[in-house]
Amino acid sequence: MSNGEDIYGNIMELAKKRGIFWGSFDIYGGLAGFYDFGPVGVLLKRNLINLWLKTFVYSNDLVVEIETPMINPRIVFKASGHEESFMDPVVECLKCGRVYRADHLVKEAAGIDVEGLSPEEIHSVILRNSIKCPECGGDLGKPFYTLLLFKTEIGPYKGEIGYLRPENAQGMFINFANILRVARNRLPLGIAQVGKVARNEISPRQGLLRLREFTIMELEFFFDPEEVEEASRYINSIADVKVRVLTSEARLRGVEEPVEYTIRELVEKQIVKTPWLAYWIGLGEVFARRLGIPHEKIRFIEKLPHERAHYSQQTFDQEVYTEKYGWIEIAGYAYRTTYDLSRHIQYSKADLTFFKHYEKPVERIVPKAYPDPGKIKDLYGGEMGRIMERLAQKTPEEIYRELAEKGYVEVEGLKIPSEAFIVKQEREKIHGEKIIPHVVEPSFGVERLLYIVLEYSYTVRDGKTVLKLPVYLAPYHVAVFPLVTGKKQEHVRIVEIARNIYRRLIARGFRVIYDDDGSIGRRYARVDEIGIPYAVTVDYQTLEDDTVTVRDRDSTLQERVKIDELEKYLLMKYGFQPDLLTP
Ligand code: AMP
Repeated sequence: MSNGEDIYGNIMELAKKRGIFWGSFDIYGGLAGFYDFGPVGVLLKRNLINLWLKTFVYSNDLVVEIETPMINPRIVFKASGHEESFMDPVVECLKCGRVYRADHLVKEAAGIDVEGLSPEEIHSVILRNSIKCPECGGDLGKPFYTLLLFKTEIGPYKGEIGYLRPENAQGMFINFANILRVARNRLPLGIAQVGKVARNEISPRQGLLRLREFTIMELEFFFDPEEVEEASRYINSIADVKVRVLTSEARLRGVEEPVEYTIRELVEKQIVKTPWLAYWIGLGEVFARRLGIPHEKIRFIEKLPHERAHYSQQTFDQEVYTEKYGWIEIAGYAYRTTYDLSRHIQYSKADLTFFKHYEKPVERIVPKAYPDPGKIKDLYGGEMGRIMERLAQKTPEEIYRELAEKGYVEVEGLKIPSEAFIVKQEREKIHGEKIIPHVVEPSFGVERLLYIVLEYSYTVRDGKTVLKLPVYLAPYHVAVFPLVTGKKQEHVRIVEIARNIYRRLIARGFRVIYDDDGSIGRRYARVDEIGIPYAVTVDYQTLEDDTVTVRDRDSTLQERVKIDELEKYLLMKYGFQPDLLTP
């Protein structure tokens, strides 16, 4: 990372100049919280997502990926609790009418953290610290909470209320039974989804860090809390990975510096409420380092109870240090327990449970109640047939339970009294029980990470920008240049060879850029600016000995390589696993 100068400004300028990203709707004056991604940005985003998939999904046999809609009916977010709780505090300037996110404003103006406090509490902090409108100095009104869900209508005429999802998670919860079936009814089971989400953020002002529409890479991991031994098998592979953690208990003691633990220690010292949380946190550390972020610039902060989302029992935020904004959250790790599945069971009446088979069947006495036809005939005469038919739709256990709860069984508005039933205590072999799995969720935002990756790869060499991106994130694997272009016969030949190399590498699955515009120095500068690790130049010597120069972005050293060996050479340099290239 470069230090000193305004790295943020430089990145924003580079991003626009080189087609990485820029503010959306610019010809109409722009709109806060929306960004467009250009040809290079799209490739960077895709590589980042692929790296996440490789780290979190393809690296194990636990997780599958799905895709579900962005527009959801209202019931989904009633069930999830978002309609009630997905809110941020707003405060309005009484003089100029500007609107601010109250907790951010207080933090910026007075350095006080008011996350999760009530509007009254935030208001008294504002008054006590004489916080005014940062634009006009006017007095601020009373803060209030506002819903961040984007509302829409489903169906063009008299449509139903719908919401754009603010996270992917509900798609995974709703589909738990569908995926469980496909995944051969086994726990633990991870369901991942990468997709667009929308949050109606209050006056977003932090570029790619706070958007109103962005991409989330999310994983819901379902497990039986009584069967967590299996976690150790997975944790073993990353048990010695070190993470810097600040626990909520330490925070309450006023500690500000994180402590270094191994993933194994997180479990042994019971810092995490389930070992699976430690596993995903470990992979999160690995992932961030693969993005080029050093260990000492990564930390995990346990949220205090009032800072946690409504569904979470324990949450860690993974933060990364940025030059512009200090520590920024890149991921949340929430222990959502049974909250979401229970709520969807309650609202949809669907069976989203897991049938847990016992190792050995257990014998139990099960009370059951059977309708007594004679008694029912005495009580209801000619209606007996219909009543017996209706009663047959309930199991004897359900009838017993209803009798025990209410003292009668209801069919078609009739309250059939207990004397119309025969109760039996039956001995049965029970093979298992239905449980609601617990859930741990790691959740990453893509665009925010993209900015951070750019910050960490941004360097300046001899006054020129070089993006030292990890090779697997680079938008292109290699650039191909003809040294000269022109009408002379040998120039035509050079162009022809360069074009052939370009086509051949593309056919072999490399992402390649061809550039014949301007001096070689200018072309090197352009590829350095977007972080292309290697540039191949076809020159006069090529015509003599079939070799080309390959220039390394980071060392600027050049090697001559036989055209026939170029592909092998690049593969070796890249350390490619073959699966990254299509044949
Ligand atoms: P959350 O569900 O709020 O924990 O968000 C999950 C992740 O999405 C965060 O860790 C961020 O990386 C990212 N994120 C959250 N809100 C935004 C936003 N407004 N703009 C861009 N990224 C965001």
